[in-house]
Amino acid sequence: MKDPACIFCKIANGDIPSKKIYEDEEFVAILDLAPATKGHTLVIPKEHYPDLFAMDEQTASAAMLRARRVAGLLKEKLSPDGMNMTQNNGEVAGQTVLHYHIHLIPRYLSDPEHINWKPAPAEPEVLQSVFSEITGG
Ligand code: 5GP
Ligand code: ZN
Repeated sequence: MKDPACIFCKIANGDIPSKKIYEDEEFVAILDLAPATKGHTLVIPKEHYPDLFAMDEQTASAAMLRARRVAGLLKEKLSPDGMNMTQNNGEVAGQTVLHYHIHLIPRYLSDPEHINWKPAPAEPEVLQSVFSEITGG
């Protein structure tokens, strides 16, 4: 199902121009308009899924497979030193376009990006409490 108001539906459909570096029947991969680093790419399903939770398992695994394929293309062509793969769900998590997409962000030793969180060890009882909340154990 396509959402006529959705920018990524329009891009996937070819109604809005984009720099498509990969396309198959179900997915496109385009260069991000506001790249974090050289080669920042978005892997986008042609069907409209607002986020990860709206996707069935088969489509979610197909998305990951395409991401791996496109990551390989970026690695081959741009020779980055590493790569971040990230995917935002919900505004609080940084999602601004409500059509599922995977970010591939090639990383270079010289780039100034800080994409990771700041790790701070949790108290054991806090970890236990979260564990219990999730598992009931
Ligand atoms: P989000 O914040 O939802 O995880 O990521 C949305 C991404 O889409 C952002 O990195 C933003 O730069 C990119 N973006 C938004 N609109 C367009 C567009 O029209 N064309 C392209 N190529 N990228 C877009
Ligand atoms: Zn859409």
